[in-house]
Amino acid sequence: MLCFSGLGFTGSDPSLACGDVEGKFDVLFNRVRAIQKKSGNFDLLLCVGNFFGSTPDAEWEEYKTGIKKAPIQTYVLGANNQETVKYFQDADGCELAENITYLGRKGIFTGSSGLQIVYLSGTESLNEPVPGYSFSPKDVSSLRTMLCSTSQFKGVDILLTSPWPKYVGNFGNSSGEVDTKKCGSALVSSLATGLKPRYHFAALEKTYYERLPYRNHIVLQENAQHATRFIALANVGNPEKKKYLYAFSIVPMKLMDTAELVKQPPDVTENPYRKSGKEASIGKQIPAPEEETACQFFFDLNEKQGRKRSSPGRDSKSSPHPKQPRKPPQPPGPCWFCLASPEVEKHLVVNIGTHCYLALAKGGLCDDHVLILPIGHYQSVVELSAEVVEEVEKYKATLRRFFKSRGKRCVLFERNYKSHHLQLQVIPVPLSCCTTDDIKDAFITQAQEQQIELLEIPEHSDIKQIAQPGAAYFYVELDTGEKLFHRIKKNFPLQFGREVLASEAILNIPDKSDWRQCQISKEEEETLACRFRKDFEPFDFTLDD
Ligand SMILES: [Zn+2]
Repeated sequence: MLCFSGLGFTGSDPSLACGDVEGKFDVLFNRVRAIQKKSGNFDLLLCVGNFFGSTPDAEWEEYKTGIKKAPIQTYVLGANNQETVKYFQDADGCELAENITYLGRKGIFTGSSGLQIVYLSGTESLNEPVPGYSFSPKDVSSLRTMLCSTSQFKGVDILLTSPWPKYVGNFGNSSGEVDTKKCGSALVSSLATGLKPRYHFAALEKTYYERLPYRNHIVLQENAQHATRFIALANVGNPEKKKYLYAFSIVPMKLMDTAELVKQPPDVTENPYRKSGKEASIGKQIPAPEEETACQFFFDLNEKQGRKRSSPGRDSKSSPHPKQPRKPPQPPGPCWFCLASPEVEKHLVVNIGTHCYLALAKGGLCDDHVLILPIGHYQSVVELSAEVVEEVEKYKATLRRFFKSRGKRCVLFERNYKSHHLQLQVIPVPLSCCTTDDIKDAFITQAQEQQIELLEIPEHSDIKQIAQPGAAYFYVELDTGEKLFHRIKKNFPLQFGREVLASEAILNIPDKSDWRQCQISKEEEETLACRFRKDFEPFDFTLDD
């Protein structure tokens, strides 16, 4: 078992990236020297945009002849216009001066620590033959094929291009005066989409723009992947003092643990290059039939009749507070768990709060197996607002007391994987059955048998701190508040939590591990729900108005 505090890495590559130098070599290198003096040495300097300017060559001659020397290993991209093509003699890259290297038209360069840097020189050209200062769709597709075609491909550390990718501002913070729908290169966007760089540097627009990081995966449909930071840099020595030099230090991704790599920054946004971030994913969020069977709650599309809410005095008309509650999030399609949705099997609902409700599980492990569900559409606890979390906690605590009064302890689990609407499963286990440690051991043992890594996370720690929005996970919470957490990478057994609890070590009802084997008639369900409502009433906090 791992402990979260144990994660940590060493061995990074402190690097600098620079925008258009435009022949101001002295300004740049003096600045780099000053930075190195202050912050220590950097391994390399990566220059995007125009390295050479249209100014006379006197300054460059001094570097070329060795009178002056770059203070740091400097890598530059090739020409973006006809007049500077002459400086870049060899399309495959070459040394331009001591410590100054032209990377070449396109390719991959690996830094001393293993940092992978993909570069593409020039500006976009859609007409063949392309001029010497341009790249074509063929260049981009050959880079993509070269790098992305293996199944192990996860992304690259750094992408260097001179033009901005078109549409990079979509879903992001303002890109200032640069209209990213008009400027930039769509081929670069396509390259960035395929390569999934952790950092993407560009220039040419004479401004600094650091976009909010964007995600490379589709939430809940793909495993979490690392985010990309796009940074556009200004030109060296610009009078407005816009940022042209950017210092960063990253551990090469191939040396990183996946969990660490895919940690999502709190301000991560949708991918700007996906046509329509939300719309594109809506259709796919509706679960496929095989996934629906994982739900333990009955749905019946023909079932339209409602049931009056059980709590008196909560009718909106008689409410003393006419304040309109904030509308809860709406599902993208039919949902069997959104309380307002016609698909909800309302006869199983046993208690309704302000943000959450309780329902009996369809085909429950036992007669009082319940679910805590948010009334609005939320996919996982990670997405809940503070007020909803507060009520979830209230329900948990109340159910613990309720079950304790009946000689049982609560085990709670959530699987945020191939599920659609948050369901917290609450299963009471008779105190006489086993201890909390027995339950914990059963989960750990059975997880090990199935090669599922369960991490013990400290009591009172929040799942939100561990699981990032969109990441698939499973966790079980014991009645002591201890949690065992598993980040789902792929193929998680949907019935895992249920199987462990049904096993001989705990409830010893192995034939009930599949909920489909536990279905009963609607009349029987109504009887169970009715009984639960009555039993729970003395604990019902929603009645304390
Ligand atoms: Zn829903």
